[in-house]
Amino acid sequence: MVLGEPRGTMSRAIILTVDDDAAVSKAITRDLRTRYGERFRIVRSTSGAEALAALDELQRRDQPVALIIFDHRMPEMTGIDFLERSIGAAPGAKRVLLTAYADTEVAIKAINDIGLDHYLIKPWAPPEDRLFPVLDELLADWERANSTRFDGIRVVGNRWSEKSYDTRMFLARNHVHYQWLELERDSEAQELRVKIGSADGALPLVVLPDGTMLDAPTPAQLADALGLRTRAESTLYDLVVIGAGPAGLAAAVYGASEGLHTAVIERDAPGGQAAQSARIENYLGFPTGLSGADLSQRAMMQAERLGAEMVLARNVELLEQRGSVHALCFGDGTEIEARAVVIATGVSYRRMEGDGLAELTGRGVYYGASASDARSTQEEDVYVVGAANSAGQAALHLARYARRVVMLVRGAPLTASMSTYLVDRIDAAENIDVRLHTEVVRGGGMDHLEWLELVDHSTRQHEEVKTSFLYVYIGAVPLTDWLGDAVARDERGFIVTGPDLQRLDRDRWQWPLRRPPFLLETSRPGVFAAGDVRLASMKRVASAVGEGSSAVNNVHLYLDTV
Ligand SMILES: Cc1cc2nc3c(=O)[nH]c(=O)nc-3n(C[C@H](O)[C@H](O)[C@H](O)COP(=O)(O)OP(=O)(O)OC[C@H]3O[C@@H](n4cnc5c(N)ncnc54)[C@H](O)[C@@H]3O)c2cc1C
Repeated sequence: MVLGEPRGTMSRAIILTVDDDAAVSKAITRDLRTRYGERFRIVRSTSGAEALAALDELQRRDQPVALIIFDHRMPEMTGIDFLERSIGAAPGAKRVLLTAYADTEVAIKAINDIGLDHYLIKPWAPPEDRLFPVLDELLADWERANSTRFDGIRVVGNRWSEKSYDTRMFLARNHVHYQWLELERDSEAQELRVKIGSADGALPLVVLPDGTMLDAPTPAQLADALGLRTRAESTLYDLVVIGAGPAGLAAAVYGASEGLHTAVIERDAPGGQAAQSARIENYLGFPTGLSGADLSQRAMMQAERLGAEMVLARNVELLEQRGSVHALCFGDGTEIEARAVVIATGVSYRRMEGDGLAELTGRGVYYGASASDARSTQEEDVYVVGAANSAGQAALHLARYARRVVMLVRGAPLTASMSTYLVDRIDAAENIDVRLHTEVVRGGGMDHLEWLELVDHSTRQHEEVKTSFLYVYIGAVPLTDWLGDAVARDERGFIVTGPDLQRLDRDRWQWPLRRPPFLLETSRPGVFAAGDVRLASMKRVASAVGEGSSAVNNVHLYLDTV
């Protein structure tokens, strides 16, 4: 096994194979070299112990490991033992178990309990059908999450600045590769500011490959400068979808594929909440799960390929009826019109109420997080507030990097609100603690979060803990304030649709037509709602996708009536 790159070659990420059977080891290594040899360095190891030593060495040399393929039946250490012992050495690597048919139950358990990414049954011939498709996807996913490539874009800012954080998140969520230069740590950051004459400009400073400089740009300015589409091409569409989360993207895919001239308006980046998920495990057809970023990118490509127009970094601020069409107005005074509308604006997390926490948003207090954030928590103690699946997923993902993750749960055991597969994994994780009946009451720090005050309601004891990271996953607030009285909403702001409209106060809301409302239709004919924003929706990716696609069916029914 040779770990160093030959002289004069660029450092490539590593694919490590681990198998004690010489013939199998050679065969898998040969197949991998043929397919991935140019992009990755393939390292072969013939025992679990040797592979663990290699991983330690690679970690010491700061060499990234993209994928580990290991056999289950090895004499001195099973594949599962190896998996458990190797996680700390290469936390971000994808892991694939090579197994015999008889061991599939072990493999499935490993997926559930210790985060195995995939298992392949030997033999894998022909590799074009049985090996490469799986590995192509895993490696593409790894590359997206760990890209060291940058598209010539530099972002200079302070580590603990909310605006810098938002700018980086906007770029990451739009899959734009950039180099982050932190004023506190990278000498190059200040040098670059001085060199380009922007030493006193507002931060973050964004420098594009052609030399364009943007001081503290808004998402719309940044998107314009990057050439992302921020303006609609037409003034009138058959269908405009507001929000590009799973519901909106599904509506766009179905609308465009069924011949409707369709546009999707997104205020931020495609994917919505789902894009924050480190691993979605309950979406049909992806037996080992997939990351939210991956799902979003696939859906966006599909929508665009089928002809939907994606308009990014635009916030719809007003919806107005104009005869038989609906006008959607943006913050800058521009507008577009649509014959039918699907509102799919989703929900966002409720804000924490503890003293001092509001001021620290984006500077240690984060509402949701993208999967790539986890790396900055390495060797830190991290606190996660919430007890639903999203909090559980976040805790498990953060635990791969952080020293310790503490989940703060206001009420009863996690089993009351979280899926069993997540609860089991949290119980099994050595560096996750769950503190029940515990809440954050205060937080503070100089320029970023440094401490939290917790209260344990069962003992009434207060305690101060040191931490720089608090991730919040509580409650769902629908993003509908901008709608005003345009469509009927319940007292919490969720949009009322279809048969539920009959239960509304008749003095306030009148359904204006003789026909009853279609399924998913709001109180305004021709305007539909889908996904988490809708009253009584399921708050799941699959249901959002289902509603987005069904909404289009009802849009057709509606368009036939006008
Ligand atoms: C961390 C996390 C993990 C999760 N894990 C899972 C899981 O494993 N399995 C599962 O089934 N579900 C999971 N969920 C829930 C799932 O992601 C949501 O149910 C789903 O994303 C809802 O889709 P949606 O399209 O209705 O809304 P959202 O995903 O919320 O998307 C709404 C979109 O609308 C945009 N928008 C809002 N207002 C406007 C406006 N005025 N103008 C333009 N755009 C606007 C937003 O920016 C957003 O992109 C998870 C959620 C989170 C946060």
